[in-house]
Amino acid sequence: MPAKAILISIGDEILYGQTLDTNSHWIAGALDSLGIRVSKKLTIADTREDILYYLKESEDQADVVLLTGGLGPTSDDLTKPCLVEYFGTQLERNEEMLENIRRLFKKAGREMSEVHEQQADMPANCTPVANNMGTAPGMWFERNGKVIVSMPGVPYEMRKMMEETVLPKLSSMFIKDSIYHRMIRTIGIGESALAEIIKDWEKSLPPHIKLAYLPTMGSVKLRLTTSGESEQTKKEVQNKIDEVLPLINKYVYGFDDEEIEEAIGRMLKTRNLKLAIAESCTGGFLSHKITSVAGSSEWYSGALVPYSNQLKNEQLKVDNKIMEEHGAVSEPVVLALAKNIREVFKADVGVGISGVAGPGGGSKEKPVGTVWIGYSDEKKTVAKKFQFVRDRNINIAYSVVAALNMIRINLDKD
Ligand code: AMP
Ligand code: MG
Repeated sequence: MPAKAILISIGDEILYGQTLDTNSHWIAGALDSLGIRVSKKLTIADTREDILYYLKESEDQADVVLLTGGLGPTSDDLTKPCLVEYFGTQLERNEEMLENIRRLFKKAGREMSEVHEQQADMPANCTPVANNMGTAPGMWFERNGKVIVSMPGVPYEMRKMMEETVLPKLSSMFIKDSIYHRMIRTIGIGESALAEIIKDWEKSLPPHIKLAYLPTMGSVKLRLTTSGESEQTKKEVQNKIDEVLPLINKYVYGFDDEEIEEAIGRMLKTRNLKLAIAESCTGGFLSHKITSVAGSSEWYSGALVPYSNQLKNEQLKVDNKIMEEHGAVSEPVVLALAKNIREVFKADVGVGISGVAGPGGGSKEKPVGTVWIGYSDEKKTVAKKFQFVRDRNINIAYSVVAALNMIRINLDKD
């Protein structure tokens, strides 16, 4: 039987809606790749009663219980005393953990107080898990073949602990239930239109290969899932992917974990091209997406954010007369932005974005959500109008996806 896990996020701030529970989202993905099935995720308050109650319930129901949160040094964080009570044990100061905490404080040039030293007090029955990013160590408990791990709430501290200690340990303890996923990533087509194109192919899938449509922000991922990771299974799934690709090829930008900005990077890099951006209404968000791809300096020159018309004119030679006549959100303006940023930055591909993000600034001709995007390379300079209709941040996010897709389509044409 595959191992079963329950995740418990502890923290009033999550229940108040002030903090988004990103921890359980990340942990679920990490456990999935280990083949451990998450059967339940709980979010609970920082109260003794709830922590004890859900610990008991989860230990009864699962093989692995992973807790995050409630490990701070202040009185509102109760997870550690609750674990002590739950296991009927007591705290003991752990010298190794104390040394870690001292080292962190020394590195930061900060004074350590008694409260911080207490973070090295560990329940006697646990194996402490070192925290290399913060002061609260984690705790690994085992009884009757079951594992309970408590980790800090701070996402990057938890992740590091999971990657360095918890995941390797879990992977050596439990037999992998091989869930095999493949993902085909599409962009520029809606879920139902995609479903229509591939309906016959979908019908041809054997019952043990499950298909899911996962739409997000202008793109739809097709996930194929099956159990078993034999070469035979992988081949069968690959054959099905090969069958569907000719039908949807023009929408497919990548597979599995590859994001659209990574795919663009791959395309530019193999063609030995550099990208430059002039983005007005997106305010640097496209540049942010691109620079979050490791190694983007190999294919990215940089961006200007010419928000004002004055800057568009002074920095990127957009004719004032054109802006007066057509407005800043217009075809000739993004054509000029795309072409001129490419020239000014001595890049190979230029992108220009100008739009009405909202909520104000819309008109009858150019309502909120009107966005023009220009693309320019050595051979051509083209522009396209998009009409998004949602709120400001969503318009900005959609514009970025549309610009990335425009780069993809135009690079593919060459
Ligand atoms: P704690 O370990 O409870 O002191 O949590 C420290 C900080 O981590 C909190 O202030 C939250 O901002 C953050 N945090 C706690 N739990 C989560 C969670 N499940 N997802 C994302 N952030 C969290
Ligand atoms: Mg807390």
